[in-house]
Amino acid sequence: MSQALEGQKLALFGGIPTSTNLSYPSWPPVDEQTAHALLEVYQSGCWSFKGPKENTFASDFAAYHDATYGVFVMNGTVALQCALEACGIQAGDEVIVPALTWLATASAVSYIGAIPVFVDIDVQTFCLDPQRVEAAITEKTRAIIPVHLYGATADMEAIMKIAQRYNLKVIEDCAHAHGGKWDGRGLGSWGDAGAFSFQQSKVMSCGEGGICITNDENIAERLYRCKHIGYSQFDLPHVFANRPPEDLVCHNFRATEFQAVLLLNQLPYLGQRIKKYNTNAERLTQMLTPLPGIRVQKCGRLANPQSYYGFILIFDEEPLVRVPLETLLKALAAEGLREGVYTTYGPVYQHTLFNIPPSKYRLALEGCPVAEGLAFQRTLVLPHQWLGADERTIDTLGNIFLKISHQASQFAA
Ligand SMILES: *Cc1c(COP(=O)(O)O)cnc(C)c1O
Repeated sequence: MSQALEGQKLALFGGIPTSTNLSYPSWPPVDEQTAHALLEVYQSGCWSFKGPKENTFASDFAAYHDATYGVFVMNGTVALQCALEACGIQAGDEVIVPALTWLATASAVSYIGAIPVFVDIDVQTFCLDPQRVEAAITEKTRAIIPVHLYGATADMEAIMKIAQRYNLKVIEDCAHAHGGKWDGRGLGSWGDAGAFSFQQSKVMSCGEGGICITNDENIAERLYRCKHIGYSQFDLPHVFANRPPEDLVCHNFRATEFQAVLLLNQLPYLGQRIKKYNTNAERLTQMLTPLPGIRVQKCGRLANPQSYYGFILIFDEEPLVRVPLETLLKALAAEGLREGVYTTYGPVYQHTLFNIPPSKYRLALEGCPVAEGLAFQRTLVLPHQWLGADERTIDTLGNIFLKISHQASQFAA
């Protein structure tokens, strides 16, 4: 293939497209068995929270990630918010978050009146850079939220060491990390709590949903009170045994049995999905690594299996480094990759929807040059669905990038 591609014109400049039928696998998965299970929940009349499906799912999902307790909630953002509350984070406290993540990581901190402090990401993994965390710690710092982002796992070993040294809580944002493990232990069970999202696009999905997992009995109880208007998990309906702690702002963040049953039917397939994602990510990495001008996100050092919300391509070397992302996207579309490729979130504090006033957040002193430069301007995301495709599709993707890399000189012409 690489020989045949020499001397070929890019489709963007009038050449023949690499593929005319490259399809973007549909998401989320739909099957008959789940349709029946949903109907059963409907007919049972047990629609609200704390039903049998939720109870089974929450404990099975927690166990899968090596945690004892799982508290099911209505989305991933409130999962983070409950985790912060449950860990005792108060208004005015500082919480360290990576500069590159979805808005929710920082806005959850802000919703409870705490101050997000943005720290730059590692140039290889795109996750929170542990070497920069320490410099951002002040006497107000109470917690760190590492995010396992796209196809990498944050360095939990380094982050837990810093947290222990400064007596900080750790809340893992696992919205991209279902089924992932670090050094043999499930993600979300390394820190004091782990927060997952089951929003439509995530690797396990019920439209909207979230869960907090923990191994700490006290945190589990506080999580439960936080999501269910202050009730203890041990209270019977309408029986209020005792008052929730005064520092805890309690809400109604409950989710329904319909959401739980969708996830309960997906959980048995999570392991094989992650395995396939790893196999395909490896195949694509092998094709792309030799190509000049393209590199891929590095998984976490001890991630096995790595979880994938997306496959990240970085164009920061010759000969593609000077081609604007917009042009690259046009070239990819012309070759047949029209859908299912986009830019990263960019730094949270530069996002259009970010409206936290400057007095209520802080940037690390040395700024966040990696998140603002490389991650924002030189990186493209292939969403995880691609990694569920067959080998031919993966090879076609690889061939598109191969052609673009080999024919890079045409961009300059
Ligand atoms: C999706 C996501 C969330 C929030 O989840 P929602 O269910 O959409 O509220 C939090 N953090 C990250 C990194 C996410 O991608």
